This record gives sequence, structure tokens and C-alpha cells, in this order.
Amino acid sequence: MKKCIGAFVLFIVIFFPFQSFAENESLNNFIYIVVNDQLVSFHDTYPVVKNGITYVPISALSEYLKVHTKWDQRNNCVFIRKGNKEIILDLSLKALFTDKGQILTDCIFLENNHTMAPYKFIANYFGYEVSYIDEGPIARARNAALSVGDDELFFMLQNKIIKEKERILGEIKKKQEEARMKKRLLKKQGKIVYITFDDGPSIYTEKILNILNQYNAKATFFMLSDRIRIYKSVVRKLINEGHSVGLHGVSHNVRKIYRSPNTVVSEMNICNTSLQKVAGIKTNLIRVPYGSVPYMTSSYRKAVKRAGYKMWDWNVDSRDSLRKNISPNVIINNVKKQVKRHRVPVILLHERSTTVKALPQILKYLQKNGYKPVPINKSQDPINFWNRRY
Ligand SMILES: [Zn+2]
Repeated sequence: MKKCIGAFVLFIVIFFPFQSFAENESLNNFIYIVVNDQLVSFHDTYPVVKNGITYVPISALSEYLKVHTKWDQRNNCVFIRKGNKEIILDLSLKALFTDKGQILTDCIFLENNHTMAPYKFIANYFGYEVSYIDEGPIARARNAALSVGDDELFFMLQNKIIKEKERILGEIKKKQEEARMKKRLLKKQGKIVYITFDDGPSIYTEKILNILNQYNAKATFFMLSDRIRIYKSVVRKLINEGHSVGLHGVSHNVRKIYRSPNTVVSEMNICNTSLQKVAGIKTNLIRVPYGSVPYMTSSYRKAVKRAGYKMWDWNVDSRDSLRKNISPNVIINNVKKQVKRHRVPVILLHERSTTVKALPQILKYLQKNGYKPVPINKSQDPINFWNRRY
């Protein structure tokens, strides 16, 4: 009799809170992850079941599994360690390697810039048993003596699960709404392109401004502190004409600026002070010399973020500063080739005479292909080398 009541209660409880699963496509393949007795909370990116395998965003799970993860940007790998055991997730090869020599292929992918990896294999490897519970559904990893068995787990966690589900649905709804707004805005604005000029201002800025003006194009200038102070009037002019300004530091010297996270911040602060003295404004936009890879490791990135700066890289490299005698045609072709590959191209140019020669053709090409060159706005999310969405 007791069993029957249990089954009845189970029926009601399950039926009610999970009814809307089917209503929302996004939660169709969702699975709740529990480590021992603890429900894992995921933000932004969620576990997913594909072909019967549960994949989880590994960064969110690591603290629950008590493993240490490290992202190696240069090799595009994530290292997962616990004691003397190690797993390497290779994003380029989409494969997983263990220190025992096991290799799993086609099991790693990126979602919202999070590395997704097979949950059961990783949990097993670090000493957890994994069981699947239909209610929820839940995938539970355990390595300890537990207060409840698998059959009671859902009842113990159901309030948390309901709350978690509401939170996730809210997050998804918000994201969908944001995506719709963005799409609408993009449609209205046409195809956006960001043209950026580094290392100025210079004797060429005035010419660049005139050419931009002819094509009704706006750009962003990442400028050096001493140059801002030398070319005061042109800085004011470009701001008045609706272009955007960003900081490029003081020294432009790898050994100096990258000495520590603090030196990057202080070079940008000094540059910002110059901008304020000359033009009466400050900015939060920065581009670090030579781009953020390889020098801007995690502690550097955190430091500039904490200081309120938004660091921008590029995804279209004109290579105009590679050699002194590079021909304008090479620059134009470099840009044309790469612009097509990105949803939101960010073009890197420098204030040089050859670039000035190449600029009209670049702008003509962009105009012909429906691009609208707009200035980078202070509140936008930056586009960086590691940010693959663009
Ligand atoms: Zn530079």
C-alpha cells in the first residue's frame, strides 16, 4: 500500500512541474547534474544529451567535481587535473586525452564559448560513479557515502530543481529576446563593419579623416599617449566628426607594457589622462599593442576588466604594418579576403602612407557589398581573438 501511495505522489509531482518541458524546445534535451547530493547550477550554457551522451560545460562543473581546470589558449586545450590524474581536452582536435594514454575522438565542442565535454567519462576518470535517474532527468556522480539513494534523490531536490528550471527558462527567454532585438537592429542598420586605426594620431590622420568623410564612414582610433598630446587638434577633430577613440597605451614596447598586469592598466590610465587633457573626454575602449595574444593572459585580462576597460582585438588583419614597402593592393586584398569570413568584421589598419593609399578602395569595396562602417561604441561587448561568435 505504501508503495502505491509513493507511486501516486511521484506521478503528480513529476507531471506537474515538468509539463512545460515539451513546451520549450530549448529544454527538451536538458538534464540536471547532481554531484553526490548537490544540484549543479549552470549559467548561460547548460548540459545537453546528444546521441545518449551527456555533455557538460566543464568550467562550471569543475568545482563540484573538485578538479582543477586550466585553459591553455595557445594550444587551444583545457587541462583537467586531480592528484596525479590528468585529462586534456583538445578543442582543435575535438578529442580527449588521458594520462593513461586513452583517446576519445569527436567528443569535445564549444557552446557559447564554453568547452563541452563528456560528463560520465570525466566523472568516472576522477573516481565518481555515474547513475541516471529518470525523474528530472538527473545524471548523478557520486564518490561519497550519501544521505539519500538514487530513488529518493529527486524528492529531496525537487524544490531546488523547480527553482533551477524557472531560472534557466528565464535566462533562455531573456537571451531569445536579446537575440531578436539584435537581429532587428542589424536588419535596420545593415551589415556593420568596424574600421580601426592603431598607433596614431599622426601626420596621416587628417588625410584618413577626409577619405572616411567622402565615404560617409566612421572609424575607431586606438591612439598612443604622446601622440595624442602632439596632434591635439586632429584628436578633437576626429571626435567632433563622430569617430570613436580608444587607448593604445604609452610605450608600445612589449617589455615595458607587459611587465605586469598593473603596467598595462597604468599605461592605459596615462593615455586616458592625455585624452582627457586634450579633448575633455575619457574612454573605456582599449587595444593592447600587438593584440591580446599571447601577452594578455588571464591575470592581465582580469586587471584591465577590473579597471573598467573593454579590450578589443580584430578579426580582419590588413597586415599593413608587416613590411614598410607593402603595396596598397596587398592590403586591399587582405581585407577583402577576410571581411567575408566574419559576421561582424573588425578591420585592423595603421596610420601609414600605404594604408592611406589603400583606404579608398577598401571603403569602396565595403560600400559596394552593403557594409556600414560604424564607430565602436563604449558599451558594446568587445570582439576578441578567442571570441568565436563573430
Ligand atoms: Zn600598435
